[in-house]
Amino acid sequence: MKARSRKPTKVNVVTLGCSKNTFDSEVLMAQLKANGIAVDHEAPHDDHNVVVINTCGFIENAKQESIDTILAWAGAKERGEVDKVYVTGCLSQRYAPELKEGIPQVDAWFGTRDLPRLLKTLKADYKHELVGERLLTTPAHFAYFKISEGCDRKCSFCAIPLMRGKHVSTPIEQLEAQARSLAAQGVKELILIAQDLTYYGLDLYKKRNLSDLLARLSDVEGIDWIRLHYAFPSGFPMDILDVMQERSNICNYLDMPLQHGSTAMLTRMRRGITQEKTEALVATIRDKVPGIAIRTTLIAGFPGETDTDHADNLRWIERMRFDRLGCFTYSHEEDTHAFTMDDDVPAGLKEQRAQEIMELQGGISADLNRQKVGKVFKVLVDKAEAGHYIARTEHDSPEVDNEVLVPIEGNYLRIGDFAEVRITDAREHELVGEVL
Ligand code: SF4
Repeated sequence: MKARSRKPTKVNVVTLGCSKNTFDSEVLMAQLKANGIAVDHEAPHDDHNVVVINTCGFIENAKQESIDTILAWAGAKERGEVDKVYVTGCLSQRYAPELKEGIPQVDAWFGTRDLPRLLKTLKADYKHELVGERLLTTPAHFAYFKISEGCDRKCSFCAIPLMRGKHVSTPIEQLEAQARSLAAQGVKELILIAQDLTYYGLDLYKKRNLSDLLARLSDVEGIDWIRLHYAFPSGFPMDILDVMQERSNICNYLDMPLQHGSTAMLTRMRRGITQEKTEALVATIRDKVPGIAIRTTLIAGFPGETDTDHADNLRWIERMRFDRLGCFTYSHEEDTHAFTMDDDVPAGLKEQRAQEIMELQGGISADLNRQKVGKVFKVLVDKAEAGHYIARTEHDSPEVDNEVLVPIEGNYLRIGDFAEVRITDAREHELVGEVL
């Protein structure tokens, strides 16, 4: 059935991938709304006639999910359920020419820095005065807070600089204004994100300026929690630890992807750091911010990873006892430096090594959680489901870390409120608590 062509009545934005994509979708939605265009986020597909898919192009699995989603909407268009399908984000940035040929049903393809052109296509004007304004897709009490775009690093496995470009810091005044606007909307937790958080300011202020930014954000009234994601280990700005220590509304939490524990692998990954230096950095962070929860991400099966490297990695994980840990299997990404290497670790062995890492971490996590039984924590209530309020301590980021389960029966908590909870039970990735 031929698609009807008319001014968009309602746009459905579909977001794939990471929190930076969530941020970008929220900015797009605010711009559309300000242009008087009805917009929704991942709505059931019968009350809108235009779809914008914000894709991910990071690694194989994510790319496949993006392609499957595009094909699904291309099919909906062919069935006349929607008029227009537009694709933006990382996959489109990286592969538009090939995708255009393969999926002709898509009306137009946009890159990661193409917002004005996308808006124009949607018959909307880019409103500069709205810069950074967003329509939140997260629960109203927390928001992802992107402080820069792109990355200047040269990690050999990573395709992100190919999709997101060079590092560009957002001016501190703009970020402060965004934080005030979010606080005025009821946001209590800012989750700071970037490709490389600790690089902040080097382009704009010719110095690492994250500590100044943190102090300014910490002064914004109504912001109770500030959380740091995507710190980079080498060249780590130690002065942020002082601000974290001084400011009670900066969470004792740090997400710092380290990728591997063996110096041989770190060198092949071009991470600019060694096992020893990583351990010294983590020890300093734990010393300067007592009780800090450290989250990291590792890659299993990088080209050239031997059994010895893997065993070294496992011993390192055991020694480091990270509070939170995620693990990806290596994905051989064209146009990255690692693509020139032989992808010599078989897929099954990659999976097996990743599983061994997560099993080891499961035991560490369960042990660390058991030590929390009997202790009292301030928690933020995110939702209620299956007879429980689901909350988080300052040591837990949404969607990736531990949850605190509080029985609904006998308790009255509001979503988005803080509460004092005593931990009564602990599991591998969950805590159970009672309201004080
Ligand atoms: S810091 Fe490294 S891994 Fe992270 S986005 Fe930049 S190049 Fe990729």
